[in-house]
Amino acid sequence: MRIVLLGAPGSGKGTQSQRLIDMYGVPQVSTGDLLRAAVAAGTTMGLRAKQTMDAGKLVDDETVLGIIRERLAAPDANSGFILDGFPRTIVQADGLNMLLESIGKPLQAVVLMQVDPQQLLRRLTGRRTCRGCGRVFNVYTAAPSVPPPCGGQCVTPDLFQRPDDSEATIGKRLEVYEAQTQPLAEYYRGRGLLHAVDAEGDIDGVTTRLIAALRTAGAA
Ligand code: AMP
Repeated sequence: MRIVLLGAPGSGKGTQSQRLIDMYGVPQVSTGDLLRAAVAAGTTMGLRAKQTMDAGKLVDDETVLGIIRERLAAPDANSGFILDGFPRTIVQADGLNMLLESIGKPLQAVVLMQVDPQQLLRRLTGRRTCRGCGRVFNVYTAAPSVPPPCGGQCVTPDLFQRPDDSEATIGKRLEVYEAQTQPLAEYYRGRGLLHAVDAEGDIDGVTTRLIAALRTAGAA
C-alpha cells in the first residue's frame, strides 16, 4: 500500500491512518507528527519550525522533503506507507514523485477526504490529545469519557489541545489549505490517482468507504 491521504486539517486523515495501520501493517508517515517530535526534542530544525507551525503556516518545502526522504528510507517503509499531511504543495508533490520514481515505488492512490467546512471547525476546536499515549479524542464527537481515555491504557489521562488547534490559528490553517494544498486534488486527478471519499459521519462508515476506494485503486 503506497497512498496519500489528502484533506483539510480535521478531515480525519490521522484517525483513518490509524485504522489502516492496524489492518494493513504499513506505517503512517505524518509530517505534522514528525515536525512535532522535532519541536519536542528541541532540534535546530524543530525550533525553526515551531513558530511557523504555531502561526498555522507551512514549513518550507525543502525541510519537509528532507524529513520525508529520511523517513521513507527507514526499513518499515519498504512494505508501503500512508502519507498523512504530505504533500501539501505542488513543489512537495513533484519532489515526492521524483523520490518514488527513483526507488521504483510509485504512488497507487491519493484519497481526498471530503468534509464540510463547518464540520472541520467543530472537529478541530474539539480535538484533544493524550499526553501519555498520543491518542486523539474529540470533546464533541468522541468524548474522552466514552470510550474511556486511551481505551483505558493510560492510568491518569492528561489531555491537551494542540497549540495550532486554537480558534485563532484554525482559520489560518484552513485558508492555507485552500490556497496551497487544495490544488493538489487537480494535480493528482490529472494523473489518474485521485479518489474522493465522503469523510463525514461515523468513523466506521468512513473507513468502509475509504477501503472500498483503495480496493478500486488496487492499493488494498
Ligand atoms: P498537521 O498535523 O498535518 O495538521 O500539521 C501541523 C503543522 O505542521 C502544519 O500546520 C504545518 O505548519 C506543519 N506541516 C505539517 N506537514 C507539512 C507539510 N507537508 N508541509 C509544510 N508544513 C507542514
